[in-house]
Amino acid sequence: MQSILSSSFVQGMMKATNDMWLKGWDERNGGNISMRLSKEDVAPFTHDFYREPRCLTLSHPVPELANCWFIVTGSGKFFRNVALDPADSLALLQVDEKGLSFKIQWGLVNGGVPTSELASHFQSHSVRKQVTAGEDRVIMHCHATNFMALSYVVELDAARFTRLLWEGSTECLVVFPQGVGIVPWMVPGTDGIGEKTAEQMQSHTLVMWPFHGIFATGPTLDETFGLIDTAEKSSEVMVKVIAMGGMRQSITTSQLIALGERFGVTPWAAALDVESGYVS
Ligand code: 13P
Ligand code: ZN
Repeated sequence: MQSILSSSFVQGMMKATNDMWLKGWDERNGGNISMRLSKEDVAPFTHDFYREPRCLTLSHPVPELANCWFIVTGSGKFFRNVALDPADSLALLQVDEKGLSFKIQWGLVNGGVPTSELASHFQSHSVRKQVTAGEDRVIMHCHATNFMALSYVVELDAARFTRLLWEGSTECLVVFPQGVGIVPWMVPGTDGIGEKTAEQMQSHTLVMWPFHGIFATGPTLDETFGLIDTAEKSSEVMVKVIAMGGMRQSITTSQLIALGERFGVTPWAAALDVESGYVS
């Protein structure tokens, strides 16, 4: 019998959290990940499940996620420790048939609860599941350094910030043509920030939490990690550019349009129509 520790989803979470730790995006317990699974994904591992799973009530009902399975990081767990002890740091959750509660079927062997950002994850999963017809399965949150740093300096306008990142690296428009949404600063770990984040997830795959971090979504752990990595790389370039006195030249609107055409993506029109605002 195969142990759940060797499953692709536990191994995937170990790799993603370790990569994110090595990137410097997840100090201490900073950041959290959730991935929606199918019952076929978990079926081979039921022998590892608790005989008497703990049941917890959701603070915000998620009827769209009824009966869904998720692997998530635990609250207060250090990303650098997930690969060392996944059974302590991760939890396998099964949402009930109404989307009102969930059972912890595996993990958190030393106690604890799923990430304090579960409301933001679940509300975002509900939206992404619907708008991508089930394709998006991952929500990832972290404290990407340069992306955060920009939030102290740029105008907190989603179209202008998207434009700035698109200009920060030629790949960006291709990787996130839908741009970056922004929510106001809000207290983390609440249903309120979950609602605002999910609203942005209707039309963006990336959402800025000013002075805090980033929320991202995608079909796989690799794709979602790559999305954050691309935005963070561009942020790093822009931090350097702004520190050097601002842009003297950049990618133009017509060049951005040509990029979209070549790679078959439709760029967010609002971000094509604005200036990034950092020309010296
Ligand atoms: P958790 O440890 O509860 O996942 O919280 C970390 C975090 O980044 C909160 O925004
Ligand atoms: Zn955080």
